[in-house]
Amino acid sequence: METPNAQKRFFTKQLINWHHTDNNRQLPWKSEKDPYKIWLSEIILQQTRAQQGLPYYLNFTKAYPTIRKMAAANDEDVYRIWQGLGYYNRCRNMLATARYISNELNGKFPDTHEGIIALKGIGPYTAAAIASFAYGLPHAVVDGNVYRVLARFFGIDTPSDGTAGKKLFHSLAQELLYKEDSAAYNQAIMDLGATVCTPQKPLCDSCPLQKQCIAYKQDMIALLPVRAKKLKVKDRHFNYLLLTNEDRIWVHKREGKDIWHNLHELYLIETDKPVGIVELQKIAAYKALAINGKPTLIEGMKQQLTHQTIHSKFYSLAIGKPDAAVFEDGKWVYIKDLKKLAFPKTIVSFLEKNFYF
Ligand code: SF4
Repeated sequence: METPNAQKRFFTKQLINWHHTDNNRQLPWKSEKDPYKIWLSEIILQQTRAQQGLPYYLNFTKAYPTIRKMAAANDEDVYRIWQGLGYYNRCRNMLATARYISNELNGKFPDTHEGIIALKGIGPYTAAAIASFAYGLPHAVVDGNVYRVLARFFGIDTPSDGTAGKKLFHSLAQELLYKEDSAAYNQAIMDLGATVCTPQKPLCDSCPLQKQCIAYKQDMIALLPVRAKKLKVKDRHFNYLLLTNEDRIWVHKREGKDIWHNLHELYLIETDKPVGIVELQKIAAYKALAINGKPTLIEGMKQQLTHQTIHSKFYSLAIGKPDAAVFEDGKWVYIKDLKKLAFPKTIVSFLEKNFYF
């Protein structure tokens, strides 16, 4: 589809004007020029809403005002500040990148697009954001907000998550970029998508693009952007045993490629469907504990991740004399020290509710 040049010029001009006159969105990292802080905000904001990410940004910049300070931190402290944000791969990559820049690049953040995109955990969107905000380089950001604004304004019904759609939206975004001030342009389109052209109930009457917006004129707002794939969400059933021994609790650090990598958890028995106490006690992982007592169900919780729904059930079970060989995969931690460890959100909620924190 060929888009008329006049419509493209209108788009860029209106967007920049709006940014300088009516864009009131306040966020602490806006107008920031330190690439470390921009990078930090962008990593936090991947898959996280700005309001939710805000306290994390403030906590991180307070604890680690420079990339060298973050690089020198111990893993557990960084994970604890990250706790609750989810997608822990981001935290792991963030720490690895901070150490790489500190050790290999003498603490200096790369100042070219190629150098930035080569860093661990940085994709095209984050690279364009850092390159434009920190250095004024001409790279357009393309994320969910941008897909939505462009699809609606230009009336594009090519799925934004297909190969052809990605190519089309990226090249259109790059063409529309206001190269004299790429930072202002990128900030403007992100803010317009977040505050005016929102997924539901966009504020078309306050939109600077309304006059030439195809979706508005043709009543297609609810239909755009089009997505080809429906998100498949998998249900998982986690049966957690809160194993107690006097004033200690057994915890284990998750490893492997699964969710919550590097976070701690209680003794987990995962099942492919919901099970009750009797069935639970017949499972090999339960029998491996070699204990006689009956677990007591405390409560169930649900946590929604992007691709998974985690149904957790928490049981308590007191262990008189723990057999070291049975529990060698984890450690017994005093209740007063639990707060020093990083846990997934579900377990934090459980521990808080049951006064272990
Ligand atoms: S007029 Fe409405 S649909 Fe069109 S870009 Fe503006 S907010 Fe989005």
